[in-house]
Amino acid sequence: MSMVAEKIRNPFHVAQRQFDIAAEALRLDQGLRLKLRVPRRALIVSVPFERDDGSWMVVQGYRVQHDVSRGPAKGGIRYHPQVTLDEVKALAMWMTWKCAVVNLPYGGAKGGIEVDPKALSLHELEKMTRRYTNEIAIIIGPEKDIPAPDVYTDAQVMAWIMDTFTMRQGFASPGVVTGKPLSIGGSLGRREATARGCTYTIEEACKHMGKPLAGMTVAIQGYGNAGSIAHDLLHERGAKVVAVSDSRGGAHSTHGLDPKEVQAHKKDSGSVVGTPGTDRIGNRELLELKVDILVPAALENQITEDNAPRIKPRILAEAANGPTTPEADLILHENGVFLIPDILANAGGVTVSYFEWVQDLANYFWTEDEVNQKLETVMRRSFRDVMAIAEKHRVNNRTAAYMLGIGRVAEATRVRGIYG
Ligand code: GLU
Repeated sequence: MSMVAEKIRNPFHVAQRQFDIAAEALRLDQGLRLKLRVPRRALIVSVPFERDDGSWMVVQGYRVQHDVSRGPAKGGIRYHPQVTLDEVKALAMWMTWKCAVVNLPYGGAKGGIEVDPKALSLHELEKMTRRYTNEIAIIIGPEKDIPAPDVYTDAQVMAWIMDTFTMRQGFASPGVVTGKPLSIGGSLGRREATARGCTYTIEEACKHMGKPLAGMTVAIQGYGNAGSIAHDLLHERGAKVVAVSDSRGGAHSTHGLDPKEVQAHKKDSGSVVGTPGTDRIGNRELLELKVDILVPAALENQITEDNAPRIKPRILAEAANGPTTPEADLILHENGVFLIPDILANAGGVTVSYFEWVQDLANYFWTEDEVNQKLETVMRRSFRDVMAIAEKHRVNNRTAAYMLGIGRVAEATRVRGIYG
């Protein structure tokens, strides 16, 4: 990639360009723009741990807090070989706007370790997680910054973080992370929350367009927590999921894919590729399929100006963070694609994280129905809030969502003023 292309696709530059577009549409005060387009704090840590063979390994980790004007910082931790500081900065900024779009009393943060977790044993993963937690413990805590799962981290990783933090403190601190196992203060419905929230926004988009979801064709890129459960939920609602993929490639069938069969095949073989009765398809190819609904649920920069002209679903629901570049946005908008932007489409995860944290702080736990109902209310209301801005200001859906989120954070920042 050329240096210019590299800069254009650097996630932090993407996040800043998205911010600038919305700030302009809001005619935001210049001082507020200066403050909101950079992170408040970024911590870089080295994480040493002993491997099973006795050798030492040192990996680089990050925790970035973008903004805390509306409440404690909130956001997941990802383990991935391509994690960089700029990626984590972008993800932290997106968390700030996301929490504000759904009106949670949180700021935004994100963490990451540059590591291939698939190359580590469970024991090594635990040691690395505990040491990373120790290194970022100076800035996290239930009132300060609350991590959660993200790409290649799960409830078990959250349990290790909670335990390590608790041991340092000397008393149980379940509210330090969300997405924990139920046995230590997790919430019912958290695991499914990202996909469930995304499904509600897809239902709303269908309603908006006056078309039924049942019978629509769907392609899902990414088969982790968001993608695999979205497959279940969309299938349950009568949509026909014709293609899914993971990091090794995809599976395609014009007859539709049964989530149970795909999940069983992935469990046995490690991948969705080769699910009986399907053809193999590439990740890029999947994005260009002629489907009604496309759900990118993997990583950033999947839809760029290079492939956007060939990507024409009716609805693009961004379960992933940052899958689309600003250049691609313009092309998609021109082609009439109805975008449900990431900071709205995938906000169900952090919304139920908030519910989990509230339950932990109150020591009082809700039924799954209560969780799902409250999630549904938040997602449907937020969808309508974003649509109202898009219509009133005649902007695309991404800019509308940004205007809603940035507007709320800007108001909190303005009214608090600058200390110092
Ligand atoms: N990692 C998820 C996200 O990107 C969830 C964050 C959270 O629950 O704090 O929204």
